[in-house]
Amino acid sequence: MIKAPVNKIIPSSVVDGPGNRTAIFFQSCNFNCRYCHNPETINMCINCGECVAKCPIKALSFENGKVVWDQNKCCACDTCIKTCKHDASPRIAYMSPEEVWAKVERNLPFIRGITVSGGECTLQEDFVYELFKIAKAHGLSTLLDSNGSLDFEKDPKLLEVADGVMLDVKAHDNESHRWLTGQDIDTVLKNLEYLARVHKLEEVRTVCIPEALENEKTIEKVCKILKPYLKDQDIRYKLIKYRHFGVRQQYRDFKEPDDEYMEKLKDLAKQGGFRNIVII
Ligand code: SF4
Ligand code: SF4
Repeated sequence: MIKAPVNKIIPSSVVDGPGNRTAIFFQSCNFNCRYCHNPETINMCINCGECVAKCPIKALSFENGKVVWDQNKCCACDTCIKTCKHDASPRIAYMSPEEVWAKVERNLPFIRGITVSGGECTLQEDFVYELFKIAKAHGLSTLLDSNGSLDFEKDPKLLEVADGVMLDVKAHDNESHRWLTGQDIDTVLKNLEYLARVHKLEEVRTVCIPEALENEKTIEKVCKILKPYLKDQDIRYKLIKYRHFGVRQQYRDFKEPDDEYMEKLKDLAKQGGFRNIVII
C-alpha cells in the first residue's frame, strides 16, 4: 500500500489556490531554500532522539531505534521543532491516500478543491496520483504547489489528474538558483514553458528579496518565456514579499522589501504581459 509522510493537513485554506481548499503538506524537499519558512519540512527525521527528552509532555518516545509521536498527547508547543538540528520534524504521520481522503471528505460541503504542497509534493508522485483520482471522482479541483524539480514533460503522470500547477520560479539563472536552493534551475524553466503550453500553469510564484536576488531579472525572464501564452491565458503571477517569520537564524539577515519596491515589480510583470498579479 502506498503511504506518504504527511506533515499537516489544513482543512480549509484560502491561500493555497483559488477558493476554499483543503491543503495537504508533505514532509521532505529536494531543495534547501535559504528563505524557507518551514525548514522543519525539508528533511526526514534521522531518529537521533534529541527531541524526545525535550518534549514537555512525553508525546515523543523512542521505540526500536525510531522516534514515535503520539498525536493525541501532543500540544503543538514546537519544542521538538526548535530542538531539531536536522531541519526535520518528529510530528509526521505516514498515511495512505484513502486515509488522507477520509480527512478531506469531511470538508466537502465547504471546499472546491485540494492542493498538495510540501516539502515538495511531486516527490510523492504515486501517492498524489491516487489521492487526486479520488478527489476528481468527487468533483474537486486538484492543484500541485511545486518547486518545479520534476520534469513534467518527461513524466506527465501527475498532469493526468492535476488541474494545474502553482510553480515557484525563484531566480533567473543557474548561479542564483543554486545559491538560493542548492539545485539547478533548468528543469524549473523548462516546466514554466511546458505547463503553459499544455494549459496547466495555474500560477507562478516568486519570493522577492531585493538585496539578495535580482527579482527584476526573474520577472523579465518569466515574462519572456510566457510571452506566447499570456494573451490567451490568465496566468496569475504571485509576488511574495520575503518575511523573516520561520526562517532559520543563519538566513535571517535579508531585508524585507517595502511596498514601493513590490509595486515596481508588479508594474514590470504588467509590462511583460501579466494581467493577474497579486502581491502578498
Ligand atoms: S510539539 Fe513536539 S515537543 Fe511539543 S508536545 Fe508535541 S511532540 Fe512534544
Ligand atoms: S526530529 Fe530531529 S531531533 Fe528529533 S529525532 Fe528526528 S532528527 Fe532528531
